[in-house]
Amino acid sequence: MQFNTKLLHGKSIGKQAGREILPPISQVSAFCYENMEELEKVFQHKSMGYAYTRIGNPSISAFEQRIKELEGGAGAVCCSSGMAAITTALLAVCSSGDEIIAGRGLYGGTIDLFHDLGKLGIRVVFAEEMTEEGIRPLITEKTRVIFGELISNPALKVLDIPKLAEVAHGAGIALFVDSTTATPYIARPLTLGADVVIHSTSKYLNGGGNAIGGIIVDGGKFPWNFEKYTALAEFKKYGKAAFLVRLRTDIWENFGCCMAPMNAFLNYIGTDTLGLRMDRICSNADRLAHALNELPGIKVNYLTLENHPYHEYVERELNGFGGGILNFRAGSKEKAFRIINALKYALIASNIGDLRTLVIHPASTLYLHTSKEEMEAAGVYEDTVRVSVGIEDAEDLIADFTEAIRCSGSGE
Ligand code: PLP
Repeated sequence: MQFNTKLLHGKSIGKQAGREILPPISQVSAFCYENMEELEKVFQHKSMGYAYTRIGNPSISAFEQRIKELEGGAGAVCCSSGMAAITTALLAVCSSGDEIIAGRGLYGGTIDLFHDLGKLGIRVVFAEEMTEEGIRPLITEKTRVIFGELISNPALKVLDIPKLAEVAHGAGIALFVDSTTATPYIARPLTLGADVVIHSTSKYLNGGGNAIGGIIVDGGKFPWNFEKYTALAEFKKYGKAAFLVRLRTDIWENFGCCMAPMNAFLNYIGTDTLGLRMDRICSNADRLAHALNELPGIKVNYLTLENHPYHEYVERELNGFGGGILNFRAGSKEKAFRIINALKYALIASNIGDLRTLVIHPASTLYLHTSKEEMEAAGVYEDTVRVSVGIEDAEDLIADFTEAIRCSGSGE
């Protein structure tokens, strides 16, 4: 089966108790049983069943099952947001004194989280470049995770997953990939060698801009060394499933960061059209990027532009797609604001992956708490405009952006 067929006819489809074509919304906090013995068995994992939505719920399970299948993983756990997913996944394997190696060109919220982890005694070491040469010198006895975004938001740097997996695995370290901006339609990091994939489902998986959420997908193949990964030591008997079991029965459950059932449903129906949307979004982004790049004085950052430093990855890892984000530099913050304010169709909003084109000035919003140095390493400058391209008609988007740039006095 190819992507869209698998999406609509995968193993998880049509398995509802009441034969519903979609998983119903189990909008409840708790589940009741005939007698106490039955509930005891559910608590003891001796019989299948749900007890309490923070720990499990059929609507949430249906979405987990679907994304697990699309990513080719062994198991998945939904979270209340993408940030909750990143936090929980990292804290499941890192204890105080451990280290994480991460790229610099990351989403601003993740950079902020890494500062918080530092206060908990988990040091994040930033690699200037997420290459073999950039990473090898940073690996120490304390390194537990190498973390990167497959297509970084908004820098648009692409991870060489097979190479990074080789370096990480050679040192007995797990590779965690945030694949939010790529989605399983563009690439499946687990099949390329990553060990854990994380998504903010708030973006392209949901697609309609109507529910915050996150998900962690475990490949189930990493051979955890329990002397090194002391955070997982208690779960040693589960072997390669230790990470997933710790998430499910311990840290994720105790942090209380479950996805709401309604959000799981919205994400589920949003994902139905993932393939169609990504085709359209990527084609629009490609056309808009090429058109704007022709304007004098405007420098566009988009992966399918021939001179882009990561251009070769479009075919090599991203199935020919460049993703839905592009950035351009306007010349100054004032010009960037003038362009954004002049746009007719793009909505000024702090999100990506919506059906609608969204635009923002990242330096004054998403990177407000980040140092100038970190911000520029993430590909954000005072004059950067980030565009999350939607499914509108490309001709209208091109005309709108061209006119806004012309009116702002940029591009001259
Ligand atoms: N990862 C990436 C690449 C993101 O772009 C974002 C949000 O923009 C997040 C994680 C955080 O996701 P959420 O806003 O759902 O917590």
